[in-house]
Amino acid sequence: MPGGRHHLQIPGPTNVPDRVLRALAAPTIDHRGPEFAALALDLLERLKTVFATRGPVIVYPSSGTGAWEAALVNTLSPGDRVLACETGHFATLWRDMAEKLGLRVEFLPGDWRHGADPDAIAERLTADLAAGSSEPAFAAVMVVHNETSTGVRSRVAEIRAALDRVRHPALLLVDTISSLASMDHRHDEWGVDVTVGCSQKGLMLPPGLGFNAVSEKALEAARSARLPRSYWDWGPILNANRDGYFPYTPPTNLLYGLREALALLEEEGLPAVFARHDRHAEATRRAVRGWGLEILCADPREYSSSLTAVLLPEPHDADKVRRIVLERFDMSLGTGLGRLAGRVFRIGHLGHFDDISLAGTLCGVEMGLAAAGVPIERGGVQAALASLEAS
Ligand SMILES: *Cc1c(COP(=O)(O)O)cnc(C)c1O
Repeated sequence: MPGGRHHLQIPGPTNVPDRVLRALAAPTIDHRGPEFAALALDLLERLKTVFATRGPVIVYPSSGTGAWEAALVNTLSPGDRVLACETGHFATLWRDMAEKLGLRVEFLPGDWRHGADPDAIAERLTADLAAGSSEPAFAAVMVVHNETSTGVRSRVAEIRAALDRVRHPALLLVDTISSLASMDHRHDEWGVDVTVGCSQKGLMLPPGLGFNAVSEKALEAARSARLPRSYWDWGPILNANRDGYFPYTPPTNLLYGLREALALLEEEGLPAVFARHDRHAEATRRAVRGWGLEILCADPREYSSSLTAVLLPEPHDADKVRRIVLERFDMSLGTGLGRLAGRVFRIGHLGHFDDISLAGTLCGVEMGLAAAGVPIERGGVQAALASLEAS
């Protein structure tokens, strides 16, 4: 391997800032003592800003997948009908999980190049209500805000408006795992009932924390929901959290890291953090077009600001490009997932990131594409630099 640091340009886990790494290394403390309670109470309050909510945020020692499960088992009952939206690989995994848990899932089809379509959702929900009393209505709509397998952002505010327009009572469950703290998300204003998040993407932490932000309506649903739940049960966690504690051993050192990551976000300011991600995403798209390659996301309204998926012309293998970039430049790029395997690679430009890091990343990609024999024009990096200079 060449000297220097590894460049972790996958769309999560992301590069962990030195300040966060140092915070993680502090000694673990008694999680039933007063020092821990002060830490937890402070964090649980400050986390609300990241979700743009005044309601509670629940923190699990878990991957994002655990937080997905928590959102479902706390709000739904066996046999409930739910509408999931096919945006890509992660939406498909969440759908599969809902089925395994005993929910009846309808998958609104998508082409993996667009976000969830608010009009299609409205149409399906209207038909659902018109079906009358023969079937209970959909209990929830599941949407992935930023589909990490495709680099496509779903328009959550418009989806909320669609539910309201047709007056459908379904809960709105949104996965913001790869958008949280990178792209604007407003739990309260957009009427989201459960926002699912985790630590290792925009929050710049190692893997290991899962989050649920929950609305009043979701808390109400949890009172009568009958899917089995124990570890994921919001009730005991919210009770213990009131005094700054957890019903089991919390991931204390990750919480130290979270305190530092929140400080970084607060120092920069969330609007500036979002603008930085938008700007780096735009420069990356200029690079892709400059190479003469295609961006997977087909609708400019839905471009992701945390990653860009690049489609390669047949018969070029995206994993060969990734292999060369790793061997020669010690940089990891995201692989094509599910049906996109070998067809796309993904450039993560989220979390702890700046102009020079982006420029280096794009240089590595351009050199890797050339070395892999992909026919490209050599103007990509130049176009990206010009975009950064101009904005
Ligand atoms: C990364 C990711 C997940 C899965 O999170 P894990 O921590 O790997 O369980 C789910 N949804 C989206 C959109 C993601 O980006």
